[in-house]
Amino acid sequence: MSPAAKGTSGVEIVPLADRVAAMVGFRVLYLVVLHAMLLALHLPQVRAVLVASAAYLAVTSLLSLAVRVTSTPVAARAFGVALLVDGLFVTYLRETLGHRAGVDIGPLALLVAVVLLASFRTGIKVALWLSVLFLVALRSQETGLLPPAAVLPGGLDGEQRLVIDLLSLWLVTITTAAAAAAAERELRRRRYDAEALARFAERLHLATRVEEVAGHLAGFAVESIGATRAVVLRTVGGSVQLVADVTPDGRGRAAGADRRRLPFVVADAGTSALLDLPRSVDNLALALRLDPERDPWLSALLPDARRIAVADITDAPGERIVLVIALRGRGDRTENRALETFAQATATASLAWSRADLLVAAERRASTDGLTGLANRRTFDDLLARLHEGWTTSGTPYALVLTDVDKFKSVNDRYGHQAGDEVLQIVARVLMEHAGAFGATAARYGGEEFGVLLPGGTADEAMALAEKVRLALHGVTEPVPVTSSFGVAAVPEHCTEPAALVHASDAALIHAKNTGRDRVVAAGDYAMPAGAAAAPPAAAVPPPRRRDLRAPAAPES
Ligand code: GH3
Ligand code: MG
Ligand code: MG
Repeated sequence: MSPAAKGTSGVEIVPLADRVAAMVGFRVLYLVVLHAMLLALHLPQVRAVLVASAAYLAVTSLLSLAVRVTSTPVAARAFGVALLVDGLFVTYLRETLGHRAGVDIGPLALLVAVVLLASFRTGIKVALWLSVLFLVALRSQETGLLPPAAVLPGGLDGEQRLVIDLLSLWLVTITTAAAAAAAERELRRRRYDAEALARFAERLHLATRVEEVAGHLAGFAVESIGATRAVVLRTVGGSVQLVADVTPDGRGRAAGADRRRLPFVVADAGTSALLDLPRSVDNLALALRLDPERDPWLSALLPDARRIAVADITDAPGERIVLVIALRGRGDRTENRALETFAQATATASLAWSRADLLVAAERRASTDGLTGLANRRTFDDLLARLHEGWTTSGTPYALVLTDVDKFKSVNDRYGHQAGDEVLQIVARVLMEHAGAFGATAARYGGEEFGVLLPGGTADEAMALAEKVRLALHGVTEPVPVTSSFGVAAVPEHCTEPAALVHASDAALIHAKNTGRDRVVAAGDYAMPAGAAAAPPAAAVPPPRRRDLRAPAAPES
């Protein structure tokens, strides 16, 4: 009879040593009560029972000591053997002392203790053991193997007494076992929830992007809370995006047949009767179903949703992230538990979301220029290195435009640095707008100098881009009119090394400055000045064109 009914009892919840100690406590208490009662009754058997009780306590306590000195399986077995001894002792009392309150209560109290301290399965095994012992005792008395039972309740024979005892025994066992099983199930569920939340927190810990946080949270709602659908919505500037969407079949899915890549906009107006419901203390809002009239876009997104729970992940000014889940229709208790877990998971996700958000903001700050919002020099250098790698590995060309604002020092001197900063911001905006159309990236190279990198771009395309920007700047009149000079170079047309490309563009830019400013000059379109002629060798040697790289080398003749 192992009390360690695997995976079903309080075994995993309460340590075995604690349960063994509680059982020893029960035995001592029972013996104290029993002997107090025997002393009060002045029964002749007191001495014999006292000796038996001492032996019983000694044997069971020795068995209980096993938990201190041996491994868990051995200790659990010793605990089981002690329970067998308990059964023998209460049967002995029953036969020796007969029908008395303290004696009749003994087996029942033992069963309650076993069910609660070991498991309901062990309790049933002990009840079975007692039933067998009672039966054996009766038969032994009938056959004269044992002396007849001491006192029988008024008018009952041995068989009737057995039936009554067995009925009360099993009634107590089954009642206690049922109650304990229900309590245990709840405990196990809570434990499962706690473990699921811990695993969830661990997963969130590794998430560095807000989309990952959203995906994990929606996944948790479906896997651990039993949601039939979980979606994360982001409201930015009046439009609502679907950021995550998870169903129990394990696949993220977009609304209906819509399987566009997440995130995408699901509604232009961010208002919704459900999402705008006031939240409870644990940040939840609940609804039985959606109202298509008051909540058209949400009803379209979650057409069959029932028992809906909503929680905010963040509600920052300008950005609101909401998790919406649909729950299965179940009993109230289950649902409360699910909602509690849901609220805790959302709180954990909120923290992870803010962390990921901060990380993104920090990355953005580290890669952009604070004044103009363009990529900074570091990002420019990284992109240049990547483009060079693309050229060496797959022969993809690229081009560079360097531009320097004309007579900018005089803007500062005449109108102040603030006006100067404003001019830099305007030039940056114009550059960004035009670069976007060419798939190019504009960066602040330093001071009032900017660089635009064109992945896959040729010198002609770079010239066209520069010319567009130059003309667009003519339209700027506030805070002061502004012009800029441009130098253009391209790989492989002018060189094949990043340093040579920057050098060639800069030389062209200097030429533009020296020949009147407000001009676009390409490397090679002018006689190289003395300094530039000493450019790195890669620029001086005519580099291979992209198609030359791919064509087989022509045999020398
Ligand atoms: P050129 O046409 O030859 O380029 O003349 P320039 O006056 O533009 O060139 P110069 O290099 O003499 O002056 C550049 C000035 O840009 C000097 C510096 O104070 C100013 N500058 C650099 N960074 C900033 C900035 O972030 N804000 C402001 N307001 N001025 C800046
Ligand atoms: Mg300059
Ligand atoms: Mg300048």
